[in-house]
Amino acid sequence: MKIGILELLSLPAGNIPVAIYHTLVTKQFSSIMPQVISVWCRQLGHQTFYGTYYGLGDARKLLPSELDMVFIACCTEMSPLAYSLAKLYRKAGIKTVIGGPHAKSFPGDCLRFFDVVVKECDKQLITDLLANRFEPGMFVSSTRPLNDLPTVEEREPEIRASAFFGRRWRSPFLVSLVPNMSSMGCPYSCDFCADWDTPYRVLPMERLAADLKFIAEKLPGTAVAFWEPNFAVKFEQIFELLESIPMASRVPYLMECSLSILNESRIKRLKETGCMSALFGVESWADYANKSGLGSKRHVEDKLNNVIASFKQLKDNIEYIQATFIFGIDTDSGDEPVELTKAFMREIPFVWPTINTPSPYGGTPLQARLLEEGRILEKLPFVFYVTPHLSITLKNYDPCSYFEQLINLSSFISSDSMLKQRLQATPALKGRFFHRVRTLGEKYINRQYCQTLELLRSDKQFLAFHEGRSDVLPDFYHHLYDKKLGKYATLLSPEERSPHLEPCQPLLV
Ligand code: SF4
Repeated sequence: MKIGILELLSLPAGNIPVAIYHTLVTKQFSSIMPQVISVWCRQLGHQTFYGTYYGLGDARKLLPSELDMVFIACCTEMSPLAYSLAKLYRKAGIKTVIGGPHAKSFPGDCLRFFDVVVKECDKQLITDLLANRFEPGMFVSSTRPLNDLPTVEEREPEIRASAFFGRRWRSPFLVSLVPNMSSMGCPYSCDFCADWDTPYRVLPMERLAADLKFIAEKLPGTAVAFWEPNFAVKFEQIFELLESIPMASRVPYLMECSLSILNESRIKRLKETGCMSALFGVESWADYANKSGLGSKRHVEDKLNNVIASFKQLKDNIEYIQATFIFGIDTDSGDEPVELTKAFMREIPFVWPTINTPSPYGGTPLQARLLEEGRILEKLPFVFYVTPHLSITLKNYDPCSYFEQLINLSSFISSDSMLKQRLQATPALKGRFFHRVRTLGEKYINRQYCQTLELLRSDKQFLAFHEGRSDVLPDFYHHLYDKKLGKYATLLSPEERSPHLEPCQPLLV
């Protein structure tokens, strides 16, 4: 059979600066599972066509029109594009399958547009799918824990297609990333996270060793992106392997992990093994303390000081460091969260802070609670489940005061004085480049916060929607939806744009 595998990394880029950003940065965010599915399909004797869409051109043109089956993977904010494509593929008689984060979060909604929705996947499940053992309308999940993945050597065609540049030679450029994983799942259970209940397990070290050797020898100029929820929870096991590689053959890498696993000697080992960029989830000053290595009953200022001290130790050991925050959870109130985040930035300007608004992803304890409390803006389309938009009502902020706080924080992040401090505190050229680009991006986000605040103040219907008093989607969101989807917007009716949030249980196979 002819099988298409498409990962959506972005919606269509609306303008040239965004298109340039997607080409240089978003293109590198391909995930591992679509590549794995492509390899499995090939190994099972099928002809595969793999593509990643990062916002340039027409997503439909990435795959041939003559296919027997198409797999699509995406995050929730990209789901309207996935749905539009699924309608076109279905019309052409092609069987449609969706997997990935959005399918896991909102399977019931996906079933309106796709023939089969997959939660947990393995090679046997793909074999069954290709043998048409699942009827249209099924939501399926494998009961067998996925304990290993194809090697980088086996995924090389997909890696070259997603991360490299140039049709003919497929070469790396700037930073070309090879997605990989050393583990799956996470031992923590943050209530907003899709991985809150995925058990942590380490994947085979022999496969990782072979991958790193292959990358060093055959894919020079690349870096490994460990796209796993929480890297090196089993720190010694992973680092013994990384340290066993001769210094000259070590491949630089990026990862996301918890501050709680680090101490002074481990931080030095990050540098020695080639960690070039790291993302740490701080999340909130008043909650999620375990990840930062604090007990849950400590005061917020303890957490601030502890986190600052940890990042200071990281400064000379990792080129580019990011911290993620969620602002607006139920333990946030008043000015304190914003003022503490500003204090964090003043102390350690070299760390880039990413501020997220809370989004109620399906299957999480957060979504279950907010649904029960009637705090989800149920008519808001999924395309707005992302910063700078707000899809819930907040416990301790009315919509206007929340956006005022966001504007305050975002203005500080993107200020010229903050950029100056960041550049002074960041010696690495690539790090300085990303600080400049992200400052421009933050200014863009800030303008969108200001636009929302302006509407909240001037449009009673818009305010009523955000206060949860009206379930009529404001015209603003209809227009913005059309703009974000471009020519694909006409494929989805108003009813189809409105999410179905009900939980849905998979058939375990
Ligand atoms: S530590 Fe990170 S990956 Fe683990 S549950 Fe929390 S947010 Fe998710």
